[in-house]
Amino acid sequence: MATAETELLIRTRRDLHRHPELAFQEHRTAGIVADRLRAAGYEVRTGIAETGVVGTLRGGAGEGPTLLLRADMDALPILEETQHDFGSTVAGKMHACGHDAHTAIGLAVAERLAAGRDRWGGTVKYVFQPAEEGGQGALRMIEQGVLEGVDLALGLHVWMGLPSGIVGVTPGPFMASAGEFELTVRGKGGHAAMPEQTVDALLVASHVVVALQSIVSRGVSPLESAVVTVGAFHAGTAQNVIAETARLLGTVRAFDVAACEDLPRRIQRIAAGICEAMGATSEFRYTQDTVPTINDPRMADLVRAAASEIVGAERVRFGPEVRTMAAEDFGEFLVRVPGCYFFVGAMDEPKGAVHPHHSPRFDICEECMPVAVEVLERAALRALGAG
Ligand SMILES: [Zn+2]
Ligand SMILES: [Zn+2]
Repeated sequence: MATAETELLIRTRRDLHRHPELAFQEHRTAGIVADRLRAAGYEVRTGIAETGVVGTLRGGAGEGPTLLLRADMDALPILEETQHDFGSTVAGKMHACGHDAHTAIGLAVAERLAAGRDRWGGTVKYVFQPAEEGGQGALRMIEQGVLEGVDLALGLHVWMGLPSGIVGVTPGPFMASAGEFELTVRGKGGHAAMPEQTVDALLVASHVVVALQSIVSRGVSPLESAVVTVGAFHAGTAQNVIAETARLLGTVRAFDVAACEDLPRRIQRIAAGICEAMGATSEFRYTQDTVPTINDPRMADLVRAAASEIVGAERVRFGPEVRTMAAEDFGEFLVRVPGCYFFVGAMDEPKGAVHPHHSPRFDICEECMPVAVEVLERAALRALGAG
């Protein structure tokens, strides 16, 4: 990568890092994206799903597929604790997942594809998406038609789970679905010394928490992966009062589309059964946030081949060990069109880039960014039949 191009890449990322914007508020970011895409020759649509931007460009080498490339733009409500001179200038907002890097990488790839448009046929649709971190930005953009005519999709995440510059990809399930539930248990409150006159919601809910542990251990094949976590338990007000209600909050993760539907049903059934048996009632609410991110095997192979050309086969991890139970709404594109999502490692211990995604000390090794640009460009050219 030419020095000037790398400098622009880093400068763009740092500028976005200084000015983080939360879900559906990415106005400044979207403005920068739209300007750069227009200048590169893209036909640009803005304001899709509020702040989303789509740049469309036809190749100069005739017919070919329509390839969707996607970068996400949103930051998180976190108070930054890094010592950078390019740290967030907005208290309580931070690019702590790397979406600043994704937007900068996306612009660099978009510009490269435009500069080399005579080499490829078909159409590139570059999607810059709002609200990946909750808010269902991908789904909102799909509802507004961004997938119309699209044949294939590619995207990437800079990833702390891999050393800087290592590429991770796998066919099939890659990242998990995410859903959240809220369970309210209603008993009958009363005096702690007269439990026979009450239905102790705290005790009932405790049995529910324990029983929920059997869903993954006994309801899911040991060859599959799933998570049912109760992350919050609220009940009771005083040592001498029996709680009338208890509220549980939890998350459900799975790699399998059928499991996404089955797991919440099992939670509800267990909760309702235990509550009924113990004289309480329950109210269950479930929201499916994202589907699993499942890679098309041929597109995963294509990414592996492209990455091997750029970083060497020994720096590509290909297989189920690169999967994660973290969720990502790129899966919404991949349940509708074949494509591939992959990781570019961003962890570097000597540089202090070791803190996990969503940490107030999160930072990436920026040397992974030119690698990400080259791998994504090469994969895009291959998908367009020009690689
Ligand atoms: Zn994130
Ligand atoms: Zn992310």
